[in-house]
Amino acid sequence: MLTGIQIAVIGGDARQLEIIRKLTELDARISLIGFEQLDHAFTGAVKEKLDEVDFSNIDAIILPVAGTNLEGQVETIFSNEKVVLTEEILVKTPEHCTIYSGISNEFLNGIVKQSGRKLIQLFSRDDVAIYNSIPTVEGTIMMAIQHTDFTIHGSNVTILGLGRCGMSIARAFHALGAKVKVGARKSEHLARITEMGLEPFQLSNIEKEVVATDILINTIPQPIVSAGVIAKLPPQTLIIDIASKPGGTDFRYAEKRGIKALLAPSLPGIVAPKTAGQILADVLTQLLQETTINRKGNA
Ligand code: NAP
Repeated sequence: MLTGIQIAVIGGDARQLEIIRKLTELDARISLIGFEQLDHAFTGAVKEKLDEVDFSNIDAIILPVAGTNLEGQVETIFSNEKVVLTEEILVKTPEHCTIYSGISNEFLNGIVKQSGRKLIQLFSRDDVAIYNSIPTVEGTIMMAIQHTDFTIHGSNVTILGLGRCGMSIARAFHALGAKVKVGARKSEHLARITEMGLEPFQLSNIEKEVVATDILINTIPQPIVSAGVIAKLPPQTLIIDIASKPGGTDFRYAEKRGIKALLAPSLPGIVAPKTAGQILADVLTQLLQETTINRKGNA
């Protein structure tokens, strides 16, 4: 149980609702910031504005999957108000206050470090990232279907990266009958791609390898789909870039060449917010309960 624990949930999309539901079930007290337009009420959760919250009582801050942007702004789907997290807010919290987000960036890392608090990035955990790859795959398939006039079955699909998402995406497109090739830089990844019955290629050869691609799916959060790569793609290729913002594609050049290139962030939150929220809620409640037990044990 989380009785007596005070948590600030700041911003987010429908995934956050599953987290709030589970935390209130476990008897935590919740301050909801950036949720004024949410119709649903949760017992034990109070909607507040950022400047109304008494952060000296907050044991944990839960941010959306993306954390903040590079200016500290937190995405708030259920509010029109601008919510900005600052170092000044974090220093008001008790020393044990932990901040939870999906991923982080320089800004968030910076204010957490300066304030001496602890940040836990849920998506750096393999279990969370692998579970989350399931709705990500479904979202990627949805985008491929919506933006093409040919079947996935029989099409040439090139996937970049064999990480947690790349592997799940490669497996699903293969199972749908696509001819899948996967680019990676590590020899063990190339071996795994072969073991999976797919065609591997070394990323250093990417320009040569993409020439017959119908759908190019990028999972690498680095500028990998460069102008040089795009120049080699057939004109009808669809690029789906799922890597975290700003993605790994030169979108300007893709547009110039008339190639459809889509940055597709937050797919789990779009196609399966309930499942995606439950994945996060399960691990968050486990972590919060462990932290609470440890703190009480040390007190
Ligand atoms: P991951 O397990 O860390 O995989 C990342 C892949 O990128 C690995 O194969 C890694 O290969 C490769 N990579 C990284 N830097 C590289 C570089 N400089 N050159 C070549 N390859 C490089 O991450 P993930 O969980 O699969 O997530 C992939 C991306 O998708 C992340 O940006 C994540 O935030 C995002 N994501 C988006 C959604 C969505 O809905 N759009 C959902 C989930 C995740 P090495 O092992 O060789 O480094």
